[in-house]
Amino acid sequence: MSVDRARLEGRIAELSAIGGSGTSVTRLGLSPEEQRARDLVGGWLRARGGQIRRDAAANLYGRFGGDAGPAILVGSHIDSVPEGGRFDGALGVLCAVEAVEALLDDGVRFRRPVEVVGWCDEEGARFGIGLFGSCAAFGRLPEGAARRADRSGLTIADALRAIGERGEPAAAKREAGAFAAYCELHIEQGPRLADRGIALGVVSDIVGILHARVTVHGRQDHAGATIMTAREDALAAAAEMILAVEDRARALPDAVGTVGEIAVRPGAKNVVPGECVFSLDLRARNEETVERLTRDVRAAIRRIGDARGVRSSIDVLSKVPAVPLDPALRDLFLRCAKAVGVDAPELYSGAGHDAENAQLAGVPTGMLFVRSTGGSHNPNELATLDDAVLGARALALALRELAG
Ligand SMILES: [Zn+2]
Repeated sequence: MSVDRARLEGRIAELSAIGGSGTSVTRLGLSPEEQRARDLVGGWLRARGGQIRRDAAANLYGRFGGDAGPAILVGSHIDSVPEGGRFDGALGVLCAVEAVEALLDDGVRFRRPVEVVGWCDEEGARFGIGLFGSCAAFGRLPEGAARRADRSGLTIADALRAIGERGEPAAAKREAGAFAAYCELHIEQGPRLADRGIALGVVSDIVGILHARVTVHGRQDHAGATIMTAREDALAAAAEMILAVEDRARALPDAVGTVGEIAVRPGAKNVVPGECVFSLDLRARNEETVERLTRDVRAAIRRIGDARGVRSSIDVLSKVPAVPLDPALRDLFLRCAKAVGVDAPELYSGAGHDAENAQLAGVPTGMLFVRSTGGSHNPNELATLDDAVLGARALALALRELAG
C-alpha cells in the first residue's frame, strides 16, 4: 500500500497553515480561510483526475471512477473551531485524499465511484448549526437554517452568496441511493486510545445528545433583610440542581452530563437571585441511557425545587438520537486496522460527527479513530505522523475492499 508519508506530512503542514498560527488553527465555517482550504484540497484531487464540485452548502466533492451507480463516500470536515488544532476534521480529509492517491499509485481501478468529501462547517462555531454541510447533504438541516446569522449579523445565505452560491443550502441534498457507504477517519477527541497506547480505534456508536435550558424561578429579595429561612433563592437551588446533574450522570454507564452556561437575574451581590437559567447537555452511548438520564435529571430538578420552594421548567432545545454505526463496516475497519498491525478496540464517540447524518439517512457508515494526545478543540491536539500513516493505510485498505 503506497501511502506516501512525506506527501501526507507536507499536506498536514500546508492545510494547517490556512487560518493557522503556530499549532493553532482558526478556520470557521464559510469563512475565506475555509474556502482557501477547499481550493487547496480540490487542487490536489483535480491533479489526480478527480471531478471537483462544490455544492449549494459549500461542501467539496472530488469524484473518481466514471462508472454509474452509488459511490463510496470518504472524508471529514474542513472547518475548525476558533483557536482549534491542526487535526480535528482536517486529518480525515487529508487521509481520505492520501488513501485515494495511494490506491491510484498502486494502479487500483475503482469498480465503484469514490467521492472524497470535505464537509463545510461541521463545528457550527460561527452560525450555531453543528454538522451544517452534512445536514444539508443528507436532508437534515433545521428549519430556517439559511437565515441563521453570525455575531456580525451576516447570515448563512449571505456567506454562501459571497462565495458565489445561491444562498440555498438545502439544495445540496444528495439523491437517495447516491452512496453505497460513507467512511470517516477522525482523531479521537478523548484520551482512551492515548491512555491505552493504541494508535487506532473503530467507532461502534455515536452518542445521543439532549440539549435543554432549565429556568429556575425564585423570589428576588434584599440580601440583608431576608432571613435565611424565608428565601426562595433561585441560584442556590440551581447550584444543587447542577450537582445533581453531575451525580445522576456518574451513576449511569457511558453517560455524561454537563452544565456549561449559567445566567443569574438580576445579578447583583446584595440581591437574593430571583431567576437562574442554565444549560443542560446530556449524552449517552445508547438511547435507553439518554432517556434514563433525562428522566433522572428531571426528577432531581423537581425534587430540589420542591424542597426549596422554587419553581422550575425545562425546555428541550434539541435531541439527536444515539447512532449505532454499520456492523459490516465496523468489522471491515477492525480487519483493516489489524492488517496494518493494530489491534484496534471498538469505542463509542462522545462527540457528534458528520458520520451520524450519513448513517441516519440510511447510508451504511463506518468511522476510524486515530489517537490524539493533547485533547481536541485546542492547539495542543496532536496525531503523530506515524499514527496518521497507519490511519491512512487502514482507510486505503477499506476503500480498496469497498470500491477497488
Ligand atoms: Zn471534528
